[in-house]
This record gives sequence, structure tokens and C-alpha cells, in this order.
Amino acid sequence: MSTEDASEALQGLSTRAIHAGAPAAEPHAPLVNPIVQSTTFYTAPIPEGEVLYTRYGTNPNHRAVARTVAALEGAEAALVTGSGMAAIAMSLLALLRSGEHIVAQAELYGGTLKLLRDELPRLGIETSFVEDDEWRDALREETRVLLLELPSNPTLRVRDIGALVTLARERNLHVLVDATFATPVNFRPLEHGADVVVHSATKYLAGHSDVIAGVVAGSGDLVESVRERLRSFGPSLDPGATWLLERGLKTLAVRVQRQNQNALALARWLMGREGVAAVQYPGLPDHPDHSRVRELFDGFGGMLAFRVEGGDEAALAVLGKLKVMRVAPSLGGVETLVSMPRYTSHAALSRAERHAAGIGDGYIRLSVGIEDVEDLQEDLHGALAAEVRSR
Ligand SMILES: *Cc1c(COP(=O)(O)O)cnc(C)c1O
Repeated sequence: MSTEDASEALQGLSTRAIHAGAPAAEPHAPLVNPIVQSTTFYTAPIPEGEVLYTRYGTNPNHRAVARTVAALEGAEAALVTGSGMAAIAMSLLALLRSGEHIVAQAELYGGTLKLLRDELPRLGIETSFVEDDEWRDALREETRVLLLELPSNPTLRVRDIGALVTLARERNLHVLVDATFATPVNFRPLEHGADVVVHSATKYLAGHSDVIAGVVAGSGDLVESVRERLRSFGPSLDPGATWLLERGLKTLAVRVQRQNQNALALARWLMGREGVAAVQYPGLPDHPDHSRVRELFDGFGGMLAFRVEGGDEAALAVLGKLKVMRVAPSLGGVETLVSMPRYTSHAALSRAERHAAGIGDGYIRLSVGIEDVEDLQEDLHGALAAEVRSR
């Protein structure tokens, strides 16, 4: 059975994650794709058909990951890029020309915000940043793209994608979703009418905090248009790094399911603990988007945030006492990472701006890993109790 035949018969997400990108089952073929450390590939003297070249995202390792990502997202096609930022930038350059306009949700990953605010205007592409009810009012004649992150960082808001897709269809716009935080295990935006989904594969898809990568998935035409930008601007992924991403993807489903479980358990445990002022997690009934996430998502995710009493100083003290959780920015790996957005992603904002963005004093973000949840709980318990005692 060829890989194509096999992938058609595959149903579940875990099965697809493992088999969709695998080599064809032929005698003596490797079970696992080897790293194809080759920039170029033989052709006829007058090349027939597609010319493969590693910068084009057509190295066999790229193609294996693209098959897997397309199968996971339910997309016609997918493409691997050198980073999450490359995935976003190349996608936007494929969708927009000079003079055109983006409407984006106000709370975005810092790198994306910088791209939209500082880089794209130099190419004549402007962005309006909007809150929940302002999308329609922000539309202009030149608007081409609606851009959102599901869920957003760090407050884990999930915008009404149904309403935005309806608006986009009405006005002939493209909906681009950065679903890095959701992963296809928890949410697949294309199933809900989005046109393009991008991931920082650096996070959950690769999952081991050891490779920078990005992916784009959507229609065949769109992915080819993104590939044109990849060819011209050049941010392609090295085959070795692509192989690490390919390996990581095979365990995506079990990792994310475990991260969902661990995060929900920790969120519930943190509620009402001494020293904890508030907990933000889409799986808790008091999260503003809880019912939407329940309806649309298959899991609440591995990211959560909480505020400690005593403000930033107390939060810093808690971070200093953790023994299992690691203090570092980034997310989505097997190890639990903890950070304070006040000093990392949102350091440039004033206190009032941070509060308006939902980041109160003493705010701590957790990227929950796959460790034993009892150990994570014990770690937080020890750090919080020591902080409360020291007051
Ligand atoms: C990390 C991240 C990015 C950027 O990805 P890189 O792989 O670091 O380039 C984009 N969007 C979101 C939501 C992220 O978390």
C-alpha cells in the first residue's frame, strides 16, 4: 500500500501523526525517514516536472512533515518554514500587496505585533488592531486579511471564529489563524472556515524545546503562493531540524493530551489556594471564553496563568523557589516552563496597559509539561507556602 492509500484509510489524529509522513512500506525501505542532507536532487538534463531544492521547502524531510501537518489540520497542503515568524510573514506576504490592510486582534505574540507594526508598513501594508466587538468597524475597502491567535497569549482568550469567518465570507477576506497554543489536537481552524493556519512548530508540534520551525497549512493554491515567498525570501528549514520536527510530531497527540490533563489539574488545584489571587484557564468555568472553548475545542490546552497575592515581588519570590519547573520564556515543550509576561513578552507595556491587557500584578504564566502532575503540584505548593510564610 502506498503512503497515499494508507493515509486515506487513517482516521484518528494520533494515527495520522505517526503514519501520514512515514516512508512507503516497500521491502528494505527504512521505517523512519532518513535525514536527506542534500541541497539538490537529480533531474533530466532538461528538467521535467517539479525541480526539488531544499530552499523551496521540497526536501523529502520537508515533504514528510508537510504531509503530516496537512493530515492533522485537514488541509489540502502544508509547508515547512524556518521559524514560526517565517510562517506568519511568508503567509501575509502571499495574501497581501502594498496598499492593502489587515485587521488583527489586539493581543498578539510580540514578534507578530512587531512584524505588523514596524515591518509591514514599510511595504505599504497597514494593520488595525481591534478588541472583540470592533472587527467590522475596522474594515476598509483595502482590507484583505483577518488575523487572530487561538488561544491568545497570555490570557488565553478564544475569539468568536464563527462570526469572523461569516464576516470574511461576506467581504471576501482571508482568515489567518495562528493556532500555536491550540495545536491540531485541541482545535483545527480550517474545519471552522479559516483559510490559513500557521504554527510556531518550535512549540508543541516539535515539543522538545530543541528546534525553531514553522508550518503553514491551507489550500493547495495558497500553500504554493506561500512557497513562492519562501523561495524568494529564503527562510527555509534545515533538513536535520526538519527531522527533529518530524520525530516530535509523532508524539504530539499523547503529549498534548497529557499537557491538557496536567494543566486542568493544576488550574483546579490553584483555585482558592492560600497566596493565589486568581487563575486564568479556559477549562475553568469562570474563564470568559469557557463555553466557546467547550463547544469548539477538544481540549483546554497546556497553558495557564495565575496571579499571586503580594504582586510582582511575591511572584518573583515564588519563581525563585521552584525546583522542578524551569524559569524560561517560550512554551510547548515536555518540561514545565514558567515566566512572568511583565518581564518578558509584555515588558514594553506600562502597568496600566498591562492591566488593560488582563495581566495584573503578580501574574505568572505556566507552560505545563508532561511531568508527573503530583510533582508539579508539590513544586508550586512548596514555593507558594514558602512565600506566604515569609510575609
Ligand atoms: C513563539 C510564537 C511565534 C513565533 O514562533 P518562532 O518559532 O519563535 O518564530 C508565533 N506565534 C506564537 C503564538 C508563538 O507562541
